[in-house]
Amino acid sequence: YHAKNLGKNTYQVYNTHIQKEKTNLKIESLLYKALKNGEFFLSYQPQFETNEENISGVEVLIRWDNKELGIVSPGEFIPIAEETGLIVPIGEWVIREACRRNKAWLDAGYPAMSVSVNLSMRQFYHKELVEMIAEILYETGLPPEFLELEITESMAIHAEQASVILTELNKLGVKISIDDFGTGYSSLSYLKRFPIDQLKIDQSFVRDIDSNKEDNDIIRTIISLAHNLNLEVIAEGVKTKAQLEFLKRNGCFKFQGYYLAKPMKPEEVTELF
Ligand code: C2E
Ligand code: MG
Ligand code: MG
Ligand code: MG
Repeated sequence: YHAKNLGKNTYQVYNTHIQKEKTNLKIESLLYKALKNGEFFLSYQPQFETNEENISGVEVLIRWDNKELGIVSPGEFIPIAEETGLIVPIGEWVIREACRRNKAWLDAGYPAMSVSVNLSMRQFYHKELVEMIAEILYETGLPPEFLELEITESMAIHAEQASVILTELNKLGVKISIDDFGTGYSSLSYLKRFPIDQLKIDQSFVRDIDSNKEDNDIIRTIISLAHNLNLEVIAEGVKTKAQLEFLKRNGCFKFQGYYLAKPMKPEEVTELF
């Protein structure tokens, strides 16, 4: 609905800006009730190991279905949820739902795998994060090693505090993955100091694999960095066989992307098993 009702040429930029403000206000006002109204649901994107057959995990991606707005993508509403603080209760719902679902798969006898949940900055630094996660694990009965949290490099900004939080999460037994790796501006020294488990190569590097030589070098560098630091490495946004083959040739054996599977309903994941 962004593109609707744009003014004529000269006013287009101005109108787009105003339109966006209005849309954001609309999103904000509707977001307050979304959780209570049960408007969120989760989409699950399988992650594969070694080849196209072994599902090693699923990333959960939130979706918002609003009567007035239709389906709103997380790219649009997560920043607003973050600004307003709504991300804290919404994020808690995501973690609980993801853990509950993974425990149900485990109980049904499907091969054990991890469920990955994205954390935003505000969630990560929220004072009750660790307690909340411990509680959800206890409540749902999911063994902690089957929950993975995705954080981004930018969250290392308060290094001391981040180190404390990550150490506590590590003690809990959950896994930590660095999402969108390679796009942040933080120094690499935290990789050695923080207890993290995995680097997730950002899709922007994967996208141009066959054509862009420079990105190929960046990917190779990230893979060897992961190997040297004893971290797992996964590539996201894998869209072609050529990209998959390149990654395998260069020592990356975990993948996520449209080539393998799109985000799907939980029942579809069950069918995949
Ligand atoms: P992300 O964590 O980096 O997730 C990957 C995004 O790339 C997802 O978009 C996914 O649908 C998309 N994707 C997966 N494979 C491919 C591919 O092969 N090609 C392309 N072009 N895209 C692919 P989505 O679901 O729109 O999510 C966007 C971002 O919103 C996520 O990026 C994450 O940062 C955030 N997000 C999603 N769910 C949550 C959540 O529950 N909590 C928080 N805090 N953030 C979330
Ligand atoms: Mg992610
Ligand atoms: Mg990512
Ligand atoms: Mg991203």
